[in-house]
Amino acid sequence: MEVQLKNTTGKLCVIGDPVGHSKSPLIQNTMLRALGLDYIYLCQHVPRGKTAEWLRCASFCGYAGFNATMPHKEALVSLMDHLDEDAAMYGAVNTVAIREGSYYGYNTDGRGFLASLHQAGIETEGKKVLLLGAGGAAKAVAPKLVQAGKAQRVFVANRTREKAAALCAQDEEGRLTPAGFDRETLCSLAEQADLVVNCTNLGMDGTNSQFEDLSFLDNLRPEAAVCDVIYSPDETLLLQKARLSGHRTLNGLGMLVWQAIFALEHFTGEKIDGNAMLPLVRQALKNAL
Ligand code: NAP
Repeated sequence: MEVQLKNTTGKLCVIGDPVGHSKSPLIQNTMLRALGLDYIYLCQHVPRGKTAEWLRCASFCGYAGFNATMPHKEALVSLMDHLDEDAAMYGAVNTVAIREGSYYGYNTDGRGFLASLHQAGIETEGKKVLLLGAGGAAKAVAPKLVQAGKAQRVFVANRTREKAAALCAQDEEGRLTPAGFDRETLCSLAEQADLVVNCTNLGMDGTNSQFEDLSFLDNLRPEAAVCDVIYSPDETLLLQKARLSGHRTLNGLGMLVWQAIFALEHFTGEKIDGNAMLPLVRQALKNAL
């Protein structure tokens, strides 16, 4: 990608440890070029335990903001001057805007997930959701589904039951219900579900882990939709089986791009037409494969 740098070019980046695999530079630079915004977005390795040092460094070097991935998201929370509602609720920051020396922490993952569902025409209002997993992705998605998404009920099924219970305890209205991850439980919950969302890393490229048994999908009603927050591969075995059984499916690429769009709005203060950005970013990601 050809980039023209000026002395006034704003600096943005993603930090992580590791961070070399991140798609954020490609996504953000594609959008910045398309929008004609004078920023450059870099990839910055920041070792675990060095979050506070990085923050001082970013401010000193004049960064307008940055995204954060593992292992910095939680550490950033207590270091912010201002925290948005979602970052406070998840206890994790994925976007930091630096304005006049103050740090503004946001979390755009949950909003990104909802926007991707909305764009795909998948409704959540009044629906029952079977959410698989209780890690970082599930923490962003589950509360957002019952709050802004107005889902009636979300069953959080996780291998480590205590983690599902802890996540569900955060919803004082009791709309999140913890569940186990065994075949019988998944089969029984699938019967009631309007939507299944995989937030585990089962099926993700680069891991050897797969669902041992996908037969719970056979219990879904035909109109139920199946989503995976995984975007690499394009179609996990879960999505493939669901699609071949006639269900609507959605992978995690939309969530990835929408959370980046919302982050860029925080960095630049610009209102961004996400629908116009999506095809450009999809194409850029495809070209980079
Ligand atoms: P995480 O915090 O490490 O959580 C992993 C989850 O997977 C946990 O619930 C874990 O269960 C479960 N799990 C792992 N191995 C399992 C197995 N063998 N059997 C059953 N459950 C298993 O990871 P994360 O940050 O939530 O990320 C999860 C996935 O979401 C990743 O593939 C990531 O790429 C994707 N993601 C996508 C986006 C996007 O924008 N599209 C954003 C964030 C994350 P236990 O609690 O029992 O360990």
